[in-house]
Amino acid sequence: IQTMKIDYIKTICPYCGCGCGLILEVADGIIVNTRQDMDHPVSKGHLCMKGWNAHEFVHHPKRLTSPLLKINNQFQKISWDEAITLAMEKFKAAADTHGPDAVAGLSSARCSNEENYLFQKLIRAGFHTNNVDHCARLCHGPTAAAMTRALGSGAMTNSIDDFAGADCIIMFGSNAAETHPIIMGQIYEACAKGATLIVVDPRTTEPAKNAKFHLPVNFGADIPLINGMMRHILDCGLEDRSFVSQRTEGFEAMEQALELWPMERAAQISGISPEKIAQVAECYARAQNASIVFCMGITQHTCGTANVHAVCNLAMLCGQLGRPFTGINPLRGQNNVQGACDMGALPDFLPGYQGVTSPDVRSKFQAAWGTPLPVTPGLTVTEMTAGAGETVRALYIMAENPMMSDPDIHSVKNRLGKLDFLMVQDIFMTETARLADLVLPGACFAEKTGTFTSTERRVQLLRKAVSPPGEAMDDFSILCCLGKELGLDFNYTDPGQVMDEIAGLTPIYGGIGFSRLAPHGLQWPCVSQDDPGTPYLHHQTFSRGRGLFVVPDYTPPMEIPDPDYPFTLVTGRIFCHYHTGTMTRRSPTLSQESSTPFVQIHPQDAQVSGIVQGDGVRVSTRRGSIVLSARLTRDVKPGSLFVPFHFAEAPANALTHEALDPVSKIPEFKACAARLERE
Ligand code: SF4
Repeated sequence: IQTMKIDYIKTICPYCGCGCGLILEVADGIIVNTRQDMDHPVSKGHLCMKGWNAHEFVHHPKRLTSPLLKINNQFQKISWDEAITLAMEKFKAAADTHGPDAVAGLSSARCSNEENYLFQKLIRAGFHTNNVDHCARLCHGPTAAAMTRALGSGAMTNSIDDFAGADCIIMFGSNAAETHPIIMGQIYEACAKGATLIVVDPRTTEPAKNAKFHLPVNFGADIPLINGMMRHILDCGLEDRSFVSQRTEGFEAMEQALELWPMERAAQISGISPEKIAQVAECYARAQNASIVFCMGITQHTCGTANVHAVCNLAMLCGQLGRPFTGINPLRGQNNVQGACDMGALPDFLPGYQGVTSPDVRSKFQAAWGTPLPVTPGLTVTEMTAGAGETVRALYIMAENPMMSDPDIHSVKNRLGKLDFLMVQDIFMTETARLADLVLPGACFAEKTGTFTSTERRVQLLRKAVSPPGEAMDDFSILCCLGKELGLDFNYTDPGQVMDEIAGLTPIYGGIGFSRLAPHGLQWPCVSQDDPGTPYLHHQTFSRGRGLFVVPDYTPPMEIPDPDYPFTLVTGRIFCHYHTGTMTRRSPTLSQESSTPFVQIHPQDAQVSGIVQGDGVRVSTRRGSIVLSARLTRDVKPGSLFVPFHFAEAPANALTHEALDPVSKIPEFKACAARLERE
């Protein structure tokens, strides 16, 4: 009997921002198994269920295998040469007829750093517009806006390993047990050593059940809670006066604003008792090393940016920053959402958060890229969709699925239908790809080489294990073909060359090159070849100099329950699935684990509506309605509903509304008014 040869390829999980290391077992060009990487510095031999099954969608029979052009409403195969020529003709025509800003591009947190860099370069240098963005807008747009303004950097300040050394951890709006399981493991490790866990979440999530304090705050009322905590800390004299005076500015205005937040007011609006607010405030302020974790429970609100400012204020007041085991730690949802931001897939920043409005920055990139660059910041994701068919005439979407991820998808569908030309590059025929004029077949994580940057700013090597199916090409190669067709100098032969270019233009990546990334990667800022990287930020000084207190304006959710729509609807993620389900719903194991769309309902509300466990129910809002299965649980508050957004057959975003945070333009996914009926 001949034994089949197995190759073991070390790479990075394609799902969440934890960036766990895994090993793909490849036999005869097929990935037959995934196993853990015992040497990985963060995951240390652990994976969650998604990671263990990361290979399952790779060889799925429904993978896209050739370019497809829509003719008479039917997709027909065309050659790559035809596809590349047609694509660039259409985009050039839109720009020539309507001006450069008629072109826009959505880059991707699922693609590598090198691909994101090339994507934004194609849009900026090829079409002379800053209309480039990606899905970070829908998750951590407020984080980038507020933390950059307050601290000088929008990234996680500390490392994942640091959680295990904290003696107090507050989680605001994060169900890391389902969305970032490996990080949750570190947090539980800290708890086992005696750390106090405080969870602020309207839902009774698994972390909430395991916390010493669970604060089921009213929807969107994080600012009253945090202001109440800060006011109590000041009243007790527990603030870190020397940190505040030596390292921050704007405190006087903040102190004055807190006069308006006596404990009774904070308690009344937040729904948390004065005693509990006082207890958690003291716990955080007295801790030797306290860490804040936050996620979309506070960012996906019309006051999302103000919420993140409130978090920054609390940490600065207590001096819980700039040291190991402390900090403000936004957990990034997708494996390379940090990298896509770092690479300038943003309408206002070139790579490395270098502002497009800065003449010095522009001249540096202009000199390197050999072309003038646009001055005005471009459109965000939500503005691109809103302007589709009007200001935006041709849209290039790489590995994103707005028909599942954007708010009010009926309206998104309408608007995308008005475009002169829509090109979608993806690995499956997604809900968005179906609307496209041209579909390009890209490659998945296992079929490409490059780098991903995890939530803790760790740049890690992604290694190719197998070839893309049929005529599909890796996204790096597709971008090179498109760039060359436009006449750009996109003659790169491998992604390592692109990283060298990034390093030359981007100070925080200045010391990063493929040869330095094995075995453990490097955490940015890494400014030179001998820089070992930076495990925690803001040591001695903030990236902007002094940390800035910003008084956060509290505004309640835009749409509140009324007699017609008496429930508050919250959307979110669950353990087995990842975002729009493109990959996890095609993984047999994950799909079997969770195959049916559902809504969580409090038993009291179910009883009033005559609903029992497993009933088909209709959830409606002013935008639309969906039918799903009833799950009765006390994990949601009475009067609220929770719907995961992974299921295309009952898309949660048919219900959500388009109200935006005025600063970061994130939609309010975490609160809208809804109705519940038995089907
Ligand atoms: Fe993958 Fe995240 Fe799970 Fe790690 S925790 S295995 S990165 S999905």
